[in-house]
Amino acid sequence: MEAYEDMSTHMNSQVKETRPLGLYVHVPFCASTCDFCAFYQEKPRRGDLDRYLKAMEFEFSALPKDRVIETVFWGGGTPGLLSAKDLEQLGCAQLEKINKPPIEWTIEMAPSTVKADKLAVLQDLGVTRISMGVQSFNAQLLASLGRLHQPKQIYKAWERIQAASFPHTNLDLIFGIPNQTLGQWEADIREAASLGPDHISTYCLTFEEDTAMYLKLSQGKVRIDDERDAKFYERGWELLAELGYAQYEISNFAKPKGECRHNLNTWQMHEWLGCGPSAASQYRMQRYQRPSNLDQWLSGVEKKALLREELVDLNDTLLLADGVIFGLRMNAGIDLVELQQRFPMAQEPQRIQGQLKRLCEGELAIKNKNRYCLTQKGQLLADAIAVEFM
Ligand code: SF4
Repeated sequence: MEAYEDMSTHMNSQVKETRPLGLYVHVPFCASTCDFCAFYQEKPRRGDLDRYLKAMEFEFSALPKDRVIETVFWGGGTPGLLSAKDLEQLGCAQLEKINKPPIEWTIEMAPSTVKADKLAVLQDLGVTRISMGVQSFNAQLLASLGRLHQPKQIYKAWERIQAASFPHTNLDLIFGIPNQTLGQWEADIREAASLGPDHISTYCLTFEEDTAMYLKLSQGKVRIDDERDAKFYERGWELLAELGYAQYEISNFAKPKGECRHNLNTWQMHEWLGCGPSAASQYRMQRYQRPSNLDQWLSGVEKKALLREELVDLNDTLLLADGVIFGLRMNAGIDLVELQQRFPMAQEPQRIQGQLKRLCEGELAIKNKNRYCLTQKGQLLADAIAVEFM
């Protein structure tokens, strides 16, 4: 079994962290593969599901006993694809092994998987947020993303979610879809807001290698239009603000107290543990992930070994840079002095200071006391800015 031991011989900043942890649970099953998807997922087979559920009990039993888990996020894949009984088994196994019920527990569900019996189980378990991957309310755009659901399934699923009355709800939208017009993007935002979730996430379509969308791109069937995407970003930000959703991260918008604490914990470079195939962890100055392969992960667990791949030993220099990169994506920005206090051994902190100064000179960021925030122009260039800090 993996030992989440106290590596107190390591000279670093996170070894002594005592603040609560985030827990990410990966459910790697999807009925079909969306054209844009680069996440690790498999088609569900009963035998695999049973082995997965059993193996997750083992993952949970290895979680550290001396740290509180405050937030939980079940992502995938499609966690909602599990039956009510399987959701209950997975949820009970998790609750049995963590110190106390989490204060925030999110589960991702695809519209076609939202059923009343599953929602009832999730409520009993203490899930606090249902996050539904709507992507678009337009049938044609959904088809071009290779999504299985129809708009009418979104409305049916939403009715069920509302009837169950979870404290928080999120709807995911995608923009920058080939042939999508600005008017269609506005219509999707207005439709999502009209349903009244307290959180909306909007993602610009990306063309990841090994996806059907990437193949279409390489065949010249679709093209990337950065200028159009920038307009979609800006109009989205403006419209969501008008509709009462405050942006707190480049892709995330919430009504008061609707922010996702689990994601904030990650972006603020605190610690989290991931359970399940392909799940990533950042814990005790190491970053790693479980194998992105169900069989490999299962055969490890069945031999009582939790395999770690892509292991990176962290240091304060790396954590400070990542704290700046992810921090700048948030509207609250970063307090550089506070980050430097958290990662005091970081080398060349003046390099980061110089880079931030240049961002301000180029009107990509603004400084207020020790705090730096990106301007709207800077937010549009956040990926390029991140590369500069790496
Ligand atoms: S449902 Fe999500 S994880 Fe599954 S294929 Fe589609 S985008 Fe990927």
